[in-house]
Amino acid sequence: MDKRNIWVVCDAFDHVDSFTGQLISKAYQLSKESNGCVQVIFLGDTSEDELKRCALYGADEVVYQHCETKDERLWLDILSDIYSSIGADVIMFTNSDFSKTLSSFFASRFEVGLTADCIDICFEDENGFVFERAAMSDSVQARIICIDSQCCTCTVKKNAFVENVINEVKELSIRKWDYKGSFNTDDTYEVISCVKREIENSADLDNAKIVFGVGRGVKDKETFDLICQAGKKYNAVVVGTKCVVDDGLLPKKYQVGQSGRSIAPDIYIAFGISGANQHLVGIRNSRQIIAVNNNENAPIFNIADVKIVADVKEFIKEFSE
Ligand SMILES: Cc1cc2nc3c(=O)[nH]c(=O)nc-3n(C[C@H](O)[C@H](O)[C@H](O)COP(=O)(O)OP(=O)(O)OC[C@H]3O[C@@H](n4cnc5c(N)ncnc54)[C@H](O)[C@@H]3O)c2cc1C
Repeated sequence: MDKRNIWVVCDAFDHVDSFTGQLISKAYQLSKESNGCVQVIFLGDTSEDELKRCALYGADEVVYQHCETKDERLWLDILSDIYSSIGADVIMFTNSDFSKTLSSFFASRFEVGLTADCIDICFEDENGFVFERAAMSDSVQARIICIDSQCCTCTVKKNAFVENVINEVKELSIRKWDYKGSFNTDDTYEVISCVKREIENSADLDNAKIVFGVGRGVKDKETFDLICQAGKKYNAVVVGTKCVVDDGLLPKKYQVGQSGRSIAPDIYIAFGISGANQHLVGIRNSRQIIAVNNNENAPIFNIADVKIVADVKEFIKEFSE
């Protein structure tokens, strides 16, 4: 049987960023389950040495098209050219604004399935590739299968997958693409007006090595403030469960879980968090989880590396001293 082509589209333009590393790592895992071949589609301007880094995460091949601009319509034409020539079974995009646009253009051009904001992908003999995402106003976690679709495409939530350097040494082939289209970015549309949009800056959370999670077990402002002060001291970002965000203690952009963000810090300390599945889905890629809870049977302890049965207020007071 022919190998399945699993594509990862890198949108970083001049380097292989960590988000792309996460997608290649997942593609590598899927390739093992599905007899697949991991192909990274790199459009932009970078060096061969940089492209070779894709092998660290398990890529078999990089298809590289040099281009000077990052324009969705130009990239769509190049992607279409490559797709029409070599084909793909799955195409994974990041969920940046750019890739969201590019993936939807692509899916509509080829009339293929697109699952947005995936939090997981697996391969099943019976169903093929299955995509998971929150659906119906985040009330359910849906499993999505593309039926009657030549290929399945998806955008993936940042940190849904772990960036993982593989143990094996891979032979990486780099195929230089020669796009011959005559696409001109100037002649397809006219800009009538521009609207300035505030973009929530979440870089602090994306890059945080240490994250403190606050749950409903943090019952008063004094305890919360002590956690925030300790956060400053240890350079940790403070996030919360849905309950805490709903109570107004933290803004929505710091909600972690199924209907919030996914994170992958080196250390996650959960203060007074029960460990509901909807929260765990957002922290499962943390390297080490430390949980503080006064209930020794709290589900968070099932996944914690370090378990501290204690009153959170007493604990944070001692911790801060
Ligand atoms: C559709 C849907 C989407 C959701 N999305 C999310 C999401 O994105 N993120 C999310 O987090 N949740 C989400 N939830 C909510 C989720 O199901 C849980 O209700 C929530 O995560 C629980 O938050 P919590 O752990 O803060 O509170 P609780 O479940 O109430 O847990 C509080 C914990 O604190 C402990 N505790 C109490 N007092 C102390 C003390 N003095 N010292 C130490 N420990 C103490 C308790 O033992 C308990 O384990 C979602 C739910 C639904 C239905």
